[in-house]
Amino acid sequence: MEEKNIISAQTKLLCIIGCPIEHSMSPIMHNAVIKDLNLDYVYLAFNVNPYDLKLAVKALKTLDVKGINVTIPFKEKIIKYLDEINPIGQKIGAVNTIKNEDGYLIGKNTDAEGSKKAILNSGYAISGRNVLILGAGGAARALSYGLANDINKITIINRNKNRAEKLAKELNRNFGIDIKSKKFSTSTLKEETKKADLLINTTPIGMYPNVDITPISAEFFHKDLFVFDVVYNPLETKLLKEAKECGCKTLGGLDMLVYQGVSAFEWWTNEKPNVNIMKSKIIEFIKKKG
Ligand code: NAP
Repeated sequence: MEEKNIISAQTKLLCIIGCPIEHSMSPIMHNAVIKDLNLDYVYLAFNVNPYDLKLAVKALKTLDVKGINVTIPFKEKIIKYLDEINPIGQKIGAVNTIKNEDGYLIGKNTDAEGSKKAILNSGYAISGRNVLILGAGGAARALSYGLANDINKITIINRNKNRAEKLAKELNRNFGIDIKSKKFSTSTLKEETKKADLLINTTPIGMYPNVDITPISAEFFHKDLFVFDVVYNPLETKLLKEAKECGCKTLGGLDMLVYQGVSAFEWWTNEKPNVNIMKSKIIEFIKKKG
């Protein structure tokens, strides 16, 4: 087979834009499968000054970047600069993946399907469950839209109550399911965790380097609770460690990260990446660099 892992004038560019961007694991996992599949692509990360987003989007077209991931703080702001948004991206109001078709930029949200796939692949059946979501930001939006068709009830607890209320109203309007929103407090966490089957942390609490904190006291857990933390660095957060010690089943954020990446990669290249390679390269990188 012809060696394509040489960067040449024909190599096609994929990238992620964000600010900051140094923490991103996307170049690690995408370049690993580009190499594995011997494709003529390269995936880079660009730190974009928030004031320059419009210019950056123009540059993506000018430089013919074929596929783009979008991360904090641009997932919502980038929508107005794109030519088309898929229905789920429109509903969520956030885009994390863009395909450049001859200068026509199509955006979609692969976090929603990535999170659902991660939970299902862990063997947990979501149908009819009562879900408690901590946080109401971008990850909470994607997750709740991804799960809303299957579950029984969602309770959203957030520091900023208005943000939780807005998301709850939207979900209720779009899916007609039972949704409550509450303000983040110890007593609310205690009361709501008792009633939940699935607890999902979508706040950055416990993320590297603040690895010694957790959003919820372990004394509120019950052994039938499934605990999913979207944080993937560290691979096992304090929340997950304590939940495991209480006998709960747990899932870290790595699978969600990888599955949203799989959807993006397939969309851009029409090739099926090896999920295990994507995962193992990230694990290797996190263990080495922290
Ligand atoms: P975001 O839009 O900024 O939302 C953050 C949410 O966390 C908000 O609801 C915020 O509450 C809450 N929060 C932040 N600090 C808090 C604190 N100290 N106490 C209580 N609540 C707090 O961020 P995001 O995009 O949703 O990302 C959140 C986390 O998910 C990050 O760690 C990110 O790396 C991770 N993530 C993982 C994946 C994956 O694939 N595994 C994908 C996306 C995101 P307020 O509304 O009150 O500010």
